[in-house]
Amino acid sequence: TPLSHIRNFSIVAHIDHGKSTLADRLIQETNTVAERDMKAQMLDNMDIERERGITIKAQTVRINYTALNGEEYILNLIDTPGHVDFAYEVSRSMRAVEGSLLVVDSTQGVEAQTLANVYHAIDADHEIVPVLNKIDLPATDCDRVAEQIEDVIGIDASDAIRVSAKTGEGIIETLEAVVHKLPAPTGTLDAPLKAMLVDSWYDSYLGVIVLVRIMDGQLKKGERIKMLSNGSTHHVDRIGVFRPEMTEIDALGPGELGFLTASIKQVRDTSVGDTITHEKKGCTEALPGFKPSQPVVFCGLFPVDAAQFEDLRDSIEKLALNDASFSYEMETSAALGFGFRCGFLGLLHLEVIRDRIEREYDIDLITTAPSVIYDIHMRDGTVEQLHNPADMPDLTFVDHIEEPRIKATILVPDDYLGDVLKLCQDRRGIQEDLTYAGSRAMVVYDLPLNEVVFDFYDRLKSVTKGYASFDYQMIGYREDSLVKMSILVNDEPVDALSTMVHRDRAEMRGRAMVEKLKDLIPRHMFKIPIQAAIGGKVIARETLSAMRKDVTAKCYGGDASRKRKLLDKQKAGKKKMRQFGKVDIPQEAFISALKMD
Ligand code: GDP
Ligand code: MG
Repeated sequence: TPLSHIRNFSIVAHIDHGKSTLADRLIQETNTVAERDMKAQMLDNMDIERERGITIKAQTVRINYTALNGEEYILNLIDTPGHVDFAYEVSRSMRAVEGSLLVVDSTQGVEAQTLANVYHAIDADHEIVPVLNKIDLPATDCDRVAEQIEDVIGIDASDAIRVSAKTGEGIIETLEAVVHKLPAPTGTLDAPLKAMLVDSWYDSYLGVIVLVRIMDGQLKKGERIKMLSNGSTHHVDRIGVFRPEMTEIDALGPGELGFLTASIKQVRDTSVGDTITHEKKGCTEALPGFKPSQPVVFCGLFPVDAAQFEDLRDSIEKLALNDASFSYEMETSAALGFGFRCGFLGLLHLEVIRDRIEREYDIDLITTAPSVIYDIHMRDGTVEQLHNPADMPDLTFVDHIEEPRIKATILVPDDYLGDVLKLCQDRRGIQEDLTYAGSRAMVVYDLPLNEVVFDFYDRLKSVTKGYASFDYQMIGYREDSLVKMSILVNDEPVDALSTMVHRDRAEMRGRAMVEKLKDLIPRHMFKIPIQAAIGGKVIARETLSAMRKDVTAKCYGGDASRKRKLLDKQKAGKKKMRQFGKVDIPQEAFISALKMD
């Protein structure tokens, strides 16, 4: 196919604005998939993604489209992840295509992720076609939303396409716009091979599958390739395209998107954004802007049942095969025994991995408090990276501590603005900007990442009844007055509950945590002191009183089914408890104790 008849594009949207539904509709309209094989949300192929309605891995599909002018086009659609945790992946996959459809729900308008994602598209020099979706709904207001797109994003929306991905209205217009408004790719066939590694994942039959965009040259089956980032070389076993199922072809040329397999053992051996060329007579200059993605949030994962440690190791190794952005190393905790310290791109990423271990591998987990990476500047001039508060060095050797900060953009209806400002202020935020887009306010805050990783997003949703949208980017490290707070249960420190906090907020946080723990830990036959401490100094204390002997007696007698239910409940409860010294602490305590309401 000549370059003039290829179009590569992505769809950018805020979550739930209809990206996946529109993609399905484009696939269906062009008969890319036989009607009987069509299932909802073709591109969201992991269960957990489908359940949560999010796309994590970029997916791609090649569509053959006969345009109204009678010409045949190849349209390659990349479906990019829509969540802030995966911003780097989004920005890379944007560089693999020339244009974007900007989907905005015409009953809602522009949201924070619309902005974040469209900025990636603008950065990648995309031609952008606005699409107003959900016009079948009574609340649709295309004129208002088009105006908002012009005001807030600053792109022309006067001929935005009006679509219902649900009924199919406007789908042909969308396909025509892809052909006529988006540019064709450029590239030179007889130049040395230069391809971008857009994504990679592990397949149990084929090994690692690499999604590539050919910039220049041609890639054929059987050739030897080289990754420019590390010089590793591989023999190409297969080449193909997605329709959306994998279909082998002989060669990929300039402007094309497709896959290769090359007996690569693990996803870790490939880096998103890397440049692929031929081993011999390859290109020497890498594509610009490559950087490996780095985990920013760390937490410990421990099996509730210590006997499941090997199963946990196995599950983590398997998941890591398919996810190079997730890091892990073994960790031993005095309280929790053997487990892993894992690093994630963000909280959603953490939740996804944790859920998969629990569900797909059937392992009950204790997740310790998520922590960011602190830079500990020592008196001798060296800098240590602290991934785990439990490893905090002796303070006499520490000069100062720096923490990562983010720039958060929040869009919120006017009515809730006050609550949002208060929340950001409470989390040590510094307001940078406040502007209006219609009846919505857009606030920009500089916030410490550690105040956000835990429950910021949940709190934001709850104070705004779900009407706020949120996005962030890392801006760098800054010094602040930070201390390690330890928690002691029955006079024993529980290392897994240690956290780094700001000195001015330590007392409040410590008090909140011990009060929460008092409610979360069941009574025992003896009194249990629960304390928060900084260094040797106790800053908050609660005492859980002993169980009265006759409480258990009440369980006996009474009707049999009630008794059985009680016993079952106790058994289930037992399974999720861990013993610390003489005290049983339930699994949920590790997360709940940290939530601030
Ligand atoms: P995504 O998060 O952007 O991928 O959004 P989805 O495609 O998953 O759509 C979110 C929700 O909106 C789903 O319940 C869809 O069925 C619904 N939806 C998508 N497009 C339309 C539309 O044109 N009209 C209506 N009424 N609902 C739609
Ligand atoms: Mg989706």
